[in-house]
Amino acid sequence: MGEIIHRSKTRPVRVGNLTIGGNNEVIIQSMTTTKTHDVEATVAQIKRLEEAGCQIVRVACPDERAANAIPEIKKRINIPLVADIHFDYKLALKAIEGGVDKIRINPGNIGRREKVEAVVKAAKERGVPIRIGVNAGSLEKRILEKYGYPTADGMVESALYHIRILEELDFHDIIVSLKASDVRLAIEAYEKAAQAFDYPLHLGITESGTLFAGTVKSAAGLGAILSKGIGNTIRVSLSADPVEEVKVAKEILKAFGLASNAATLISCPTCGRIEIDLISIANEIEEYISKIKAPIKVAVLGCAVNGPGEAREADIGIAGARGEGLLFRHGKIVRKVPEEKMVEELKKEVDKLAEEYFAK
Ligand code: SF4
Repeated sequence: MGEIIHRSKTRPVRVGNLTIGGNNEVIIQSMTTTKTHDVEATVAQIKRLEEAGCQIVRVACPDERAANAIPEIKKRINIPLVADIHFDYKLALKAIEGGVDKIRINPGNIGRREKVEAVVKAAKERGVPIRIGVNAGSLEKRILEKYGYPTADGMVESALYHIRILEELDFHDIIVSLKASDVRLAIEAYEKAAQAFDYPLHLGITESGTLFAGTVKSAAGLGAILSKGIGNTIRVSLSADPVEEVKVAKEILKAFGLASNAATLISCPTCGRIEIDLISIANEIEEYISKIKAPIKVAVLGCAVNGPGEAREADIGIAGARGEGLLFRHGKIVRKVPEEKMVEELKKEVDKLAEEYFAK
């Protein structure tokens, strides 16, 4: 199976202690849903996101109260913090002063040249990158008039317009997103953007919907883009707890072999040959391995007919047999385990493999 060739020609951009772009892995982001000025609630949510595997977190920064909360939030979390700002350069300055690791602002929307220069100067001094966020729903009027409706070319043109403003001020720590809720439009826009410039791309299918529909839509769109080797950081947008966004993002990356720090579960759909209570075992193991930070593949299969063969790629697995399970490694059966001990034994084996992986 061929590996996805990742875009190494994107420029590496530092965000706190991480680097987006270059040869680096695709980084998972999410955004808090709390009021940013409510430091307690915001920090608590960020902690939950961190635990779920979120690597960079963004907070809305709509007013001074939010900007004032940034230093305290920053002090209490471990992952890089991004401030999401629209238009107001004073909020951008305050967020940068407050210690954010990145800001999301479109320079073309800031207004007068001196204001843009002030933000760029502050960002440069502090080594804070800027994400330009193009959204199909809020393209510049002149671009909309030119194309008639939001198109991929129009989105890339908008991105280039904002990029040029920063480049003219000799600022290059840029990350770009081109979000659309229309999956095909987003795919086309990211493809064209990858051809048009080499700044790292932040992927997202915006306003993708509720937990179930949004997950499917995000997987379809982000998957299509990632499969082309495009994208350096992703954010799944769901009308749900943001922890779900992180879980979905992780699964999408795993599906493309783009997560080296997460375990994967392979489980069969079950059929009439089933010999064990597979669904509950699969759910229990899935929950358990979600905390394992090693690329281990675990298989849970209903029977031994096709089981081990179906999961030859798995590092470890279990296939149901009458009243017991056959434990196998890399497709070979190693021993039998009574049904009531299956979950426990599998967990032990997973821990052992994780230990071996980290000892390497
Ligand atoms: Fe059916 Fe066995 Fe395949 Fe599961 S592993 S789908 S139970 S044949």
